[in-house]
Amino acid sequence: MRKTKVYYRGCLIGGAIGDALGWPVEFMSLEEIKSKYGNRGISSLVIGRRGRAEVTDDTQMTLFTAEGLLRGETRGYNKGVSETGKCVYNAYLRWLYTQGDPADDTLNIYDGYLIKQKELYVKRAPGMTCLTALRNREMGTVDNPLNDSKGCGCVMRVAPVGLFYRPQFAFNKGMECSAITHGHIIGHLSAGAFAYIIASIMSGMDIAHSVEDTLIELSKYYNSEEMVDLLKKAINLSMGKKSNEVCIKELGQGWIAEEAIAIAVFCALRYKDDFEGAIMAAVNHSGDSDSTGAMTGNIVGAHLGLNKIPRKWTSKLELYDVITKVADDLLTGYSDDGDWWMKYPGY
Ligand SMILES: [Mg+2]
Repeated sequence: MRKTKVYYRGCLIGGAIGDALGWPVEFMSLEEIKSKYGNRGISSLVIGRRGRAEVTDDTQMTLFTAEGLLRGETRGYNKGVSETGKCVYNAYLRWLYTQGDPADDTLNIYDGYLIKQKELYVKRAPGMTCLTALRNREMGTVDNPLNDSKGCGCVMRVAPVGLFYRPQFAFNKGMECSAITHGHIIGHLSAGAFAYIIASIMSGMDIAHSVEDTLIELSKYYNSEEMVDLLKKAINLSMGKKSNEVCIKELGQGWIAEEAIAIAVFCALRYKDDFEGAIMAAVNHSGDSDSTGAMTGNIVGAHLGLNKIPRKWTSKLELYDVITKVADDLLTGYSDDGDWWMKYPGY
């Protein structure tokens, strides 16, 4: 059965918590993390200067992905013309504006809900590929790649695609959203696969089956063999006896897209009913802790729902109200009851 509101919220809030937990240790080696936070590594949210646990570009861009999809598809429903990719691109330009870049006066796009949220106007180590691509004012597509990057910035932001569409649509839309800034096919496939996992969970599958289905879908694409192998390795490691540290080291560091999704899949499968265990495993390593934390939190949060995320993780989270509102909008398509949305072809 299709998941309800608490699971939409669980997915986006779960991702934001993983992001916030991983952010203080993003650029630290595991040894450095342990010497600062003890042998278990970082195990609770660090509270920032404003009294909240801080989220980074992963959560910020996830919100803007959602806004782009919502505006594109709502327009499509009402006017019959849907340029969702362009709307997501424009949403990313609004994100760029929140990062301190000047507005482009030739574009009439600087409006909407997110751009009014002051807490979004902070720079927390935004990815260079995203910044550079957006500053060039050219929108990349799968057929017209902008560069050769497969940095994980193209995949950590696409959970809303999986919340928004059925799995089959989600794969293609995830690829499209990724191609806006990143040109490498493995980046596109990683984003497609990640969106597909989330969409499958939202359609009522458990995490293991959603990952299995994703592998079948992924295998249909050219150049996907290595990625399929890496994800199979993540599945096997999750069922084995090796420690989290050893397993994650075998999968990579998560700076590039396929490693980030492999680490997230590993952590989500090993701790599928234990949100805390999942995000702690996902951030305590020498790689891109906030992105692997965010993606793991998205998957396990979508599976468990917000009610099963312990309160100690949610109570001091920055942007909590904004994130839950955006999650609700993804469920209902800006309407009160979601009625038109349920009849929409992509849903
Ligand atoms: Mg980040």
